[in-house]
Amino acid sequence: MNSDSLDLYGPLKKFFGFSQFKGLQEQVITSILKNENTFVIMPTGGGKSLCYQLPALMKEGTAIVVSPLIALMKNQVDAIRGISEHHGIAHVLNSSLNKSEVNQVKEDIASGITKLLYVAPESLIKEEYASFLRTQKISFVAIDEAHCISEWGHDFRPEYRNLRHIIKQIDNVPIIGLTATATEKVQEDILKTLGMSDANTFKASFNRPNLFYEVRPKTNEIEKDIIRFIKQHPGKSGIVYCLSRKKVEEIAQVLQVNGINAVPYHAGFDAKTRAKHQDMFLMEDCDVVVATIAFGMGIDKPDVRYVIHHDIPKSLESYYQETGRAGRDDGEGICLTFYAYKDIEKLEKFMANKPVAEQEIGHALLQEVVGYAETSMNRRKYLLHYFGEEFDEINGLGADMDDNTRNPKKKSEAKDDVVTILDVVAKTNQ
Ligand code: ADP
Ligand code: MG
Repeated sequence: MNSDSLDLYGPLKKFFGFSQFKGLQEQVITSILKNENTFVIMPTGGGKSLCYQLPALMKEGTAIVVSPLIALMKNQVDAIRGISEHHGIAHVLNSSLNKSEVNQVKEDIASGITKLLYVAPESLIKEEYASFLRTQKISFVAIDEAHCISEWGHDFRPEYRNLRHIIKQIDNVPIIGLTATATEKVQEDILKTLGMSDANTFKASFNRPNLFYEVRPKTNEIEKDIIRFIKQHPGKSGIVYCLSRKKVEEIAQVLQVNGINAVPYHAGFDAKTRAKHQDMFLMEDCDVVVATIAFGMGIDKPDVRYVIHHDIPKSLESYYQETGRAGRDDGEGICLTFYAYKDIEKLEKFMANKPVAEQEIGHALLQEVVGYAETSMNRRKYLLHYFGEEFDEINGLGADMDDNTRNPKKKSEAKDDVVTILDVVAKTNQ
């Protein structure tokens, strides 16, 4: 099959109703249709799902999609079912299915109806499923959120480590890895662990020109600062991230008594409360969600106007992911972070019981966070440099969209900055 001459626009229109590909989608899909290992690095919202959904719908057999979250899989399956008359075109295979449901899934795969089979990594390991899949026509395996493979990523899942081994046993099919994490370390880890150093790699720019980056000193006045900021943006949607569940509840309450329509969200609430608060935010029954990092993955609210970090995240990847939830619609998106060095020390302390290797990684990631927080440089340039991308701070898109560029620090202050960073280095070398 000569996929270069294959019409991709017809299927794009037919299945998804779109007339244009977004970014590198067309190149990625062409690579997958050639049965080549493919590695896709695109920021969140870049359109990664379509990169495997479209070729899955076009190819013979069933594509296996590995994804870490059941909620993410369900959303995608519902969306795909909406474009077909066959309910069986997409399925999720997981432990919540009963025997007859599993049989239905198997039947649909065997008869060739099922184009997309979503599985959690822990299900794929099950011999019962693996032995069945071994006998079927599998078109390719897509591994979404592939950074979960790497301890250098912001969301390490040990089950992801075994994927290569299991996929090999199923069939010698092409592998598609997809991630929104752009650091070299994570990319290397993904390619190595999935055994696909030969993969065609497609990397999109990580610049988000509409996001405004600001870091402010964290003082005793932080609650007032946050309230003031929110009141300056009445009726707008925003997220306030805190490190601990306790802090989440505290801040949510403080906002509420100050007349701000806020709800708390963290993994300590039961599923019903979490779903309720998430829906309130999505349906605009509240303006602000105060949350731990448990809130966010897979939440696609396009008009979040600000993301406030009450506590600085433990890595720049996390910072980028979390701030990235602002301004998905390309409208205003303010990313305001409150920073005090003692929060870094707190994060260091949390790691104290972890294995040494993990501590070293955690420490290195934190040093990058300190560098970012304390820099007097263009923040977009700093952040993109961290992701291996050179940013033109004069002509680049969004070049003046940060505090340092809008209000350059005076020489003397900037010099203080240097001393602070050296202080940090001295401290950590002790
Ligand atoms: P990612 O997984 O990279 O975060 P998604 O796959 O969730 O991104 O896609 C983000 C949004 O972009 C979705 O709303 C999707 O419908 C939309 N999208 C994807 N491809 C296109 C396209 N070619 N044209 C228009 N919209 C698209
Ligand atoms: Mg995605």
